[in-house]
Amino acid sequence: MANRKSCCGVSLLEAMLAVLFIVMTTVCVVLITLMVSWKTHTGLTPPPQNHSYLIGVGRADCTGPPAEVPLMGYANPQQSAAGIHTRLYSRAFIIDDGRRRVVFVTAEVGMISQRLRLEVLSALQVKFGDVYRQENVVLSGTHTHSGPGGYFQFTLFMISSKGYIRSSIQPLVNGIVKSIDIAHRNMKPGRIYRNRGELDDSTLNRSPHSYMNNPEDERHRYKSNTDKQVMVLKFTDLDGDGIAVLSWFSVHAVSMNYTNRMVSSDNMGYASYLLEQDKNPGDLPGQGGFVAGFSSSNLGDVSPNIRGPHCVNTGLSCDYLNSSCPVGGTKMCQAFGPGNDMFDSTRIIGHNIYRKAKELYASAVEEVTGFLHFAHEWVNMTDVTVQINSSHTVSTCKPALGHSFAAGTTDGGGDLNFTQGAVEGDPFWDGIRDALLGEPSNKTQECHHPKPILFNTGSVQMNWPLPWHPQIVDVQIITIGSVAVVAVPGEMTTMAGRRLRDAVQQELQSEGTFEDTEVVIAGLSNVYTHYITTYEEYQVQRYEGASTLYGPHTLSAYVHKFRGLARAIAQDKVSELPVGPQPPLFTKNLFNLLPQAPADKTPVNSSFGDVLQQVDPVYRQGDVVSITFIAGNPRHSGDIRDKTFVTVEIYDNRTDSWEVVHTDASWETRFHWLKGSNGRSNTTVEWFIPPSAPGGCYRIKHFGHYKQRTGLRPVIKPYEGTSAVFRVSTSFYYQ
Ligand code: ZN
Repeated sequence: MANRKSCCGVSLLEAMLAVLFIVMTTVCVVLITLMVSWKTHTGLTPPPQNHSYLIGVGRADCTGPPAEVPLMGYANPQQSAAGIHTRLYSRAFIIDDGRRRVVFVTAEVGMISQRLRLEVLSALQVKFGDVYRQENVVLSGTHTHSGPGGYFQFTLFMISSKGYIRSSIQPLVNGIVKSIDIAHRNMKPGRIYRNRGELDDSTLNRSPHSYMNNPEDERHRYKSNTDKQVMVLKFTDLDGDGIAVLSWFSVHAVSMNYTNRMVSSDNMGYASYLLEQDKNPGDLPGQGGFVAGFSSSNLGDVSPNIRGPHCVNTGLSCDYLNSSCPVGGTKMCQAFGPGNDMFDSTRIIGHNIYRKAKELYASAVEEVTGFLHFAHEWVNMTDVTVQINSSHTVSTCKPALGHSFAAGTTDGGGDLNFTQGAVEGDPFWDGIRDALLGEPSNKTQECHHPKPILFNTGSVQMNWPLPWHPQIVDVQIITIGSVAVVAVPGEMTTMAGRRLRDAVQQELQSEGTFEDTEVVIAGLSNVYTHYITTYEEYQVQRYEGASTLYGPHTLSAYVHKFRGLARAIAQDKVSELPVGPQPPLFTKNLFNLLPQAPADKTPVNSSFGDVLQQVDPVYRQGDVVSITFIAGNPRHSGDIRDKTFVTVEIYDNRTDSWEVVHTDASWETRFHWLKGSNGRSNTTVEWFIPPSAPGGCYRIKHFGHYKQRTGLRPVIKPYEGTSAVFRVSTSFYYQ
C-alpha cells in the first residue's frame, strides 16, 4: 500500500502548514538578522565570520636595577635610580595567519636601542631558531623617561647612562624575550577588531613655533597641532572573550619629570596598569592573563604637561620662539600640569588614555581580516638620496646634533646657556667644540644647514671609543589585515608622522588590495636616532629640529624608504627587497662607568631590615603610611624581575594568615632607596591607602639583599624587615 504522503497531491491542510512554515521561517530569519545587526551596532557580540588568526599575548617584568643607574630620558646626571614607583613590563602580541607570523612588542623603556634589539634577536634565534627574526619582530618603547639606562652601544648614549651596564640590559633582554615566549606558548585561534577615537585634554604641542612653519594649506587639513587619535586593536578568542588590547597614542611619557628618582612606567604605563587591573580582577599588578599594551606613536613634539610652559621663578610666560625666561634662561621655562604634582599629572593623563582605550575596546566591532605581511630593510641613513621632483635630488648627512639639542625642552631643560631655535653657532661653545673635536667640515655644515653643529657625531674624531651614533637603522612595516604598523626608529613630530602615514597608505592602496587600511606609527622602535621633523620644522631649529640627526632631508629619506616597503607589500614583492647593510654588534670598547656597589653596612647594634622609623598604630583611608628600614643596596638583589622589595599585607582572621594586597609594582606604594655614606643606606616605603582599602590589621614588609666582605670573596645575603601591625580604620568620627 502506497503511503498517502508519497503522492504528488497536497492536501489543503498540508499546503496551509507549508505556507505557515515558510512565513515563520522568514520571520525568524529576519528577526535573527535584525538582532545580529542590532548587536553589531550596539557593540555587543559581533557576528561570527570565517576569518580567524592564531593569537598569543604575553607580559613579563623587565625592571632593571632601581639604584644608581641613570634614568634614561632627560640626560640629567643627577637623575639616577633610587627606588620603584611602578614596575616596567614588556608586552608581546603574536599573530599568525597560517602563512606568516608577526610579533609586536611594546616595552616600558625610554626607547629600543640597537644594542637591545640585536641582543633580543640573538636570544630569540637561540630559543626559536628562525621563527622570530628582524623581519617579523617589531620592538617599540613607550618612551618612559624613568627607566634605567645603560643598554646602549653608541658612545653618546653610553656617556649619558654611565656606559654599557650588563646588569641593566640583561633584565630588558630577558623580560622582552620572556614576554614573547609566554605569547608563543599561549597561541590559540582568535579574532581582532579595530577601533579608533579621539582623546582631548591630554596633549600639548611643545614646539608650536616649529609646527607653524609647516605650509599653511597642510596645517589647514588638520584641526589640531597634535594627533589626538587613539587606535585600538581588540583581541578575543573564538568565543568572543577578550584576551588583550593593543593601543597607540601620541604623547611623551614625561609626566614624571627630571626630579623623579624612582623607576616608573609613567602615564602610558599607568594606562596599561589600570586596564589590566580592570580585566584581571583580584590579581596583583603584572599578573593575570589579560594583556593591555599602550604603544608610543608620533609623539616628537607632544607633551602631556598641558598647563604649558611658564617661567617657574616669575610665573610669567616663556619666550615663544626659544622657550627661555628673562631670568634663569632655559632651565626656568618648564611645563607642568594637569595635576598638582608629577604623580597627580601622571595619574590624570594615564587615566585619560586608559578611559578612552577602554571605551574603544568595549565598542570595537570592525573585524580585522586578511593576510599578514612584513617588510624590513637595514638602511645606511647617512647616505640616502631622494629625488623630490623632476629636477631636484636631496641627500641625508652624517649624524650631527645642533646647538638647540643642548637646550632640552620645556619638559626638561638643559643646564647650560643654550636656547631652542638657535640657527647660529655660539663662539664660546664652538671654540670648545673645535678645540676638543675639531671643526666640522664645510661640507658637513652645509649638509646640516641651518643647523649649527654642536656634536659632529659622524666625524672621524667622534668615532672613539666607538661610533657616537648609529648609521645603519631598521625600517620596517608589518600589516595585520587592514592595519599597517610602521616601525619608526626615533621620535617623529606630529606633522612628520602624518606625512609618513599618508605616504604609506597611498602606496599600500595603489594596487587596490589594501583598501581602507589604517596606518599607525609605532614610535621609538628598533634603534634610537633621536627626532625626525619635517623639512620646514627643521628650519627653525628648536630642540626637535636640532636633534634630527641626518639633516634637513631625514624625513624625506624615511618617507622614500617606507614607501619602498609599502609598495613591496602591495605588489607582493617583499622577497625582492634588499636586506641592506647589517648593523654592528660591538664586542670591544664598550665601557662601564658605574662603579661596583660597595659592601653594605649597618649602624652599630643593628641589622639589615631593622625599623628606623615605625608606622603609626591607626590610619584612615586616604592617609599615607610611611616606614623606614635599614637596607642594603638594591643593586645587590641582582635580577629583581618577578620579585618585590615591598609587600603591604592584610591579616585574614578566617585563615589566620597574612595576605599580600600590594607589591612594589602597585601604584599605591612607593619604594625609596636613600643612600648614605660608607655603605650605609635606608629604604622608606610609603603606602597611599586607597579609598577602597578594607578596614583591618595591616603590616608592611621590605625584602632586600646586602653584600658583606668575609675573607676574600664578597657574599650576598637576603634580609627582610617587618613593620609593627597597624590598623586601617574605616569609621569616621569628628573630634
Ligand atoms: Zn622624546
